[in-house]
Amino acid sequence: MPQSPSSEVRKKLETLRSRFRDKTIRELEELVSSISSASRHSESIGKLVGAYQLFHRLAGSAGTLGFTQLGEQARKLEIAIKPLADQVTAGDNSERIRIQLQQLLAAGYEDDIAGLGDLLGAAEPVSTGWHQYRPADAGNRSVLMLMEPDKELAGLISQGLALYGHRVRTLSAGPQWTDSMDDVDLIMVRDTLLQDEEADWLPRLSSLPVICFSEAHDFATRYRLAGLGVDACLEEPQDIPALADRVEQLLAEGLATLTGRVMIVDDDRELLEHYRLVLTSGGLQVRTLDDPAGLLSELAEFRPDILLMDVQMGRYEGPALARMLRFQAEWLSLPIIFFSSEEDRDLQLDVLARGGDDFVTKPVSDEFLLRTSRIRCYRARQLGKLVSLDSLTGLLKHALAKTELSREFARCTRTGHDSVVAMLDLDNFKQVNDTYGHGTGDMVIKALSNLLRHRLRDTDIIGRYGGEEFVIVLPECSLGKAVEVLETLCQDFSRLVFNGGSEEFSVSFSAGVAALNAYESGEQAIEAADRALFERKRSGRNGVSVAPEGGCDRLTEN
Ligand code: GH3
Ligand code: MG
Ligand code: MG
Repeated sequence: MPQSPSSEVRKKLETLRSRFRDKTIRELEELVSSISSASRHSESIGKLVGAYQLFHRLAGSAGTLGFTQLGEQARKLEIAIKPLADQVTAGDNSERIRIQLQQLLAAGYEDDIAGLGDLLGAAEPVSTGWHQYRPADAGNRSVLMLMEPDKELAGLISQGLALYGHRVRTLSAGPQWTDSMDDVDLIMVRDTLLQDEEADWLPRLSSLPVICFSEAHDFATRYRLAGLGVDACLEEPQDIPALADRVEQLLAEGLATLTGRVMIVDDDRELLEHYRLVLTSGGLQVRTLDDPAGLLSELAEFRPDILLMDVQMGRYEGPALARMLRFQAEWLSLPIIFFSSEEDRDLQLDVLARGGDDFVTKPVSDEFLLRTSRIRCYRARQLGKLVSLDSLTGLLKHALAKTELSREFARCTRTGHDSVVAMLDLDNFKQVNDTYGHGTGDMVIKALSNLLRHRLRDTDIIGRYGGEEFVIVLPECSLGKAVEVLETLCQDFSRLVFNGGSEEFSVSFSAGVAALNAYESGEQAIEAADRALFERKRSGRNGVSVAPEGGCDRLTEN
């Protein structure tokens, strides 16, 4: 019988635990004999340092692996023995240290140490309650559930959102949630349907993005909707571009929290393996490293969103590694988060001053580790986007779009595949602004960018070239295919209905395309596409023209 993902994760976590238990049993046996010989012979006092290190390690790892009591007890012993270990390291009089150790043991610590092994019998049950990861659908067509009692409105919304490439399912009266609905990515629901406190799908609202159609403005209603898990409230869902924009935003937020690249550096292999299991089964990509010496090459290859790192790793210290990373400009903004223990307060400040960004305190619970990693990856990605993406449309900014174009130019001339560049420009847009205002104009620009993002492939490059001008690069695509795709987009875009306050209106766009490999450079191909666009504007707008060098002139008439 195939196992559910969470029972597989559970099994792996259990295997890890028993490995940790076996190893720790051996280490504790050695520890007891080291401590007893250190307490009897001053020439063996050096063994105290190793004992202290073991306590420190157990204090950090045992709790995370489910041995909470062992972790707590190890922490207590670590604190008690630290002053003695420090004296040993400083080379103080070993006989005096030996006597202090004897006193410590006699004060009850001997029993505590002997009892550590018993605590390995008491592990918390493995919990995988945090494990709710659902892989994103193949392809980027999202499934939207629509619950709108007004059939006419429901039809309008379904058709409108379908133009953006979404699959819309409708449920009208007395909706019942069935298993076949588990692929839904977002819910749109009329507020009246949320009155039914008994509805079996109400709890789903808190785990999926929800847009509620509601005309209520009063505090009590809105507060209640928020409490149910509603993420957005729209008064006029018939304004399809505005609705599509909200859908887009919510879906993007949901996806972003599920993806991310995390690199973890720790010299404790079991712990490392545990973190890896938790994060990968939570949908994150993970690279682990138990020897910090390989840090720079691994970073360059994996390019994580965030770096999680232990503070003490054998002969390496996390803070020094963090500072070293900051020598290189490319890692200046990489978030570095340390695993540290409660007692490290001074060290923590020191670490922050030396290039670390934050701490998580050991032992770390699985759920906390996953949540904090996701949030931090999300933030890191958002920051990266701020730098390279246009704020209105979320598309690539001019300069970055051109860089990507040059990259694709190099690629297609090297491998010989066909690629196409297209320039798009909204038709008579000045008039839209003049008639309906700049804000409405912005909405139109956003609508076109959402449409492009949804309907083009993930590998296509889409940039906002200027105000109402866009550049698109279609790698591994023939000129004929590009024209076909853009023609369809032209038609669909011109069918969108915008709300201009007093009246509704539609807008069209024109496009010029050129075969990227027919030119000497990406720059030249863009100029050719721009000329084709101009030609299209001259001869009637709302359609696609092909640059003469890249095929036949004016492939389509409108
Ligand atoms: P054509 O069909 O020939 O392209 O005519 P057009 O009116 O679209 O072209 P024109 O270049 O004369 O006007 C473009 C307008 O786009 C003028 C400018 O105010 C507007 N625009 C540029 N950027 C933005 C923006 O970010 N938001 C809004 N709302 N309007 C913008
Ligand atoms: Mg224009
Ligand atoms: Mg223009």
